[in-house]
Amino acid sequence: MSDESWYSERLYDDWRQGFRVTRDIYRVQDGLQDIRVFETPGFGRVLALDGVIQVTAGDEFVYHEMLAHTPIYAHGGVRSVCVVGGGDGGMVREVLRHAQVERVVLVEIDASVIDLCRRYLPMVSDGAFDDPRLEVAIADGAAFMRDGTERFDVIIVDSTDPIGPGAVLFSQDFYGDCARRLTDEGILVNQNGVPFLQGGEITDTYRRRRVHFADVGFYVAAVPTYVGGVMALGWASPSLRPRAETLETLRARFAAAPIPTRYYTPDVHKAAFALPRYVEVLVTA
Ligand code: SAM
Repeated sequence: MSDESWYSERLYDDWRQGFRVTRDIYRVQDGLQDIRVFETPGFGRVLALDGVIQVTAGDEFVYHEMLAHTPIYAHGGVRSVCVVGGGDGGMVREVLRHAQVERVVLVEIDASVIDLCRRYLPMVSDGAFDDPRLEVAIADGAAFMRDGTERFDVIIVDSTDPIGPGAVLFSQDFYGDCARRLTDEGILVNQNGVPFLQGGEITDTYRRRRVHFADVGFYVAAVPTYVGGVMALGWASPSLRPRAETLETLRARFAAAPIPTRYYTPDVHKAAFALPRYVEVLVTA
């Protein structure tokens, strides 16, 4: 097999992940990011930005379900959600499964990601962009949080890694603005990297958040294409209550408002907050 039929992810200096590419679907450098969509035998359609895998049709459900349903079931009364990043539409698809959610604002910096994903990865958004509860804002998520006043029950940061345009979404100022834009028992969640390879992200996030929130924690999910072990998902809230909800409460909420899932269950939700020791030690003052 020739090298041309493989895509090599360039996220790490010393380790690469390769995908066999059966068809190149789209490629453009739009001024903001290098955007690429291609077809693979193992994971279906794949979106890569600036050389880093963002979403694959095959395993996106793990990531999207755990970032959307965990805060929503933990809160128990979510009406409004803001998704920062997430231009592929998978996160808003999962959020909009909750009938109680009345309003979702998607704040994506790069309009072309939305356009391309709607065209070439329609299975990811699966009609979510046509839902009347969804409002799309093309803006930098940090500026959006800093400049506005509307408060949300849940803020989900579905961003790229802390390089390029996504870096600002890992800053202390951004976390402070998110704290101001949450309701009293609101929850902020985000993708916080793969601790085995990006451990510094957890420590930095913990230190930057604890000045703004009463509860700062992490939970984990195993996403096959975010290689290197479990992925860390960040959790922050002005209230200790949502993270402390019992398994019985989560089961009751899930039973009362069930949605189809392939990864999330109330038991997985509760267990996801048990951190392996090598991750736990990264959460440090
Ligand atoms: N699930 C993915 C992952 O963790 O690899 C993230 C997918 S999603 C496509 C990431 C999105 O964040 C991209 O569409 C990118 O354009 C967007 N983004 C990056 N920086 C941003 C910013 N400052 N404000 C809003 N959106 C941003």
